[in-house]
Amino acid sequence: MKYNFNSGPSILPQTVYEQASQAILDYNNTGLSILEIGHRTPIFEGILDEASQLARELMGLSNDYEILFLHGGATTQFLQIPYNFLGASETAAYLDCGTWGTKAIKEAKAFGTVHLLGTSKDKNYSYIPKGYTIPDGIKYIHITSNNTIEGTQQNSWPEKNGAYLVADMSSDILSRQMDFNNFDLIYAGAQKNIGAAGVTFVAVKKDIISATVPDRHIPSMLDYRKHIDNGSMLNTPPVFAVYVCLLTLRWLKALGGLQAIEPVNNQKAKLLYDTLDTLPVFTPTVALEDRSVMNVVWIMENKTLEDAFLATCKEAGMVGIKGHRSVGGFRASLYNALPLSSVQALTDLMTDFAKKNG
Ligand code: PMP
Repeated sequence: MKYNFNSGPSILPQTVYEQASQAILDYNNTGLSILEIGHRTPIFEGILDEASQLARELMGLSNDYEILFLHGGATTQFLQIPYNFLGASETAAYLDCGTWGTKAIKEAKAFGTVHLLGTSKDKNYSYIPKGYTIPDGIKYIHITSNNTIEGTQQNSWPEKNGAYLVADMSSDILSRQMDFNNFDLIYAGAQKNIGAAGVTFVAVKKDIISATVPDRHIPSMLDYRKHIDNGSMLNTPPVFAVYVCLLTLRWLKALGGLQAIEPVNNQKAKLLYDTLDTLPVFTPTVALEDRSVMNVVWIMENKTLEDAFLATCKEAGMVGIKGHRSVGGFRASLYNALPLSSVQALTDLMTDFAKKNG
């Protein structure tokens, strides 16, 4: 038995593993594997359609949005967004809250001007900068709703002041209710809360599409308009990864959607943070009001205990507890599919470890 706290690719529902396995052997009694069906077939078109509709429904998105399933990960979105929307003489405003935001900023600078709204680099990205204002004349604002590596999560959104609002929601999409219609472009690598690695989810509002930089040649694979015109089938889509998304979305809907999953996610995070706050051997590092519900990070002041703690976790079948290689320490990712019982097992282990080593 493993307790999977991986940060992504990460745990998916058991039923998804079972259904996906069955579909590899024989998709819906068609005598064909999901891996061998053509993408331009009614079978796959049905899968893509249902996945788009379910995402739209779960997020409460209006018909003003196009849903796309693309290649290249969230990392490709870092450049695709400015390629499409940031003219050489235009300015986009970015919030720098860690590794992924920094990478997005680097890509945008190749296309136009970046105005930095704020950065939390001064304190190791342990908080979300606030109190900034959006200057006039900004084309779009880019934020990262949840910082997977640093363990911070944003709970309020900038006043737009006429700019479009773009969000990297890779690590907290579908984990909580929010007004998704407030955003003009939402993107997420699928490999945490949506499905399997290999596909990127994008919801893009028609308004921002009409604001595509007019005088720039955009290569087809990076042009949102071409993907929209071709219904996410400009080339062969990652068929199996999209199918896994569909299964996960169905699972979430059957559970009761975001309204049902949000309190469970909050309960999991509270249990872990309460434990960290109670046991002096562990030190959570993120500002209280910015603590992520998805990725919980902490350190141990007594470094000599680190290896022993990791060994204890390993022995108990806990996977993915080590912090990202760039920041060290520890991290537990508590995505939608992780059961409360796994967090309970981790906190029991921590309490026991603290008793023996406190
Ligand atoms: N943004 C965030 C918030 C992420 O967590 C990640 C990956 N974990 C990325 C972007 C990069 O995603 P990908 O590997 O799909 O390009």
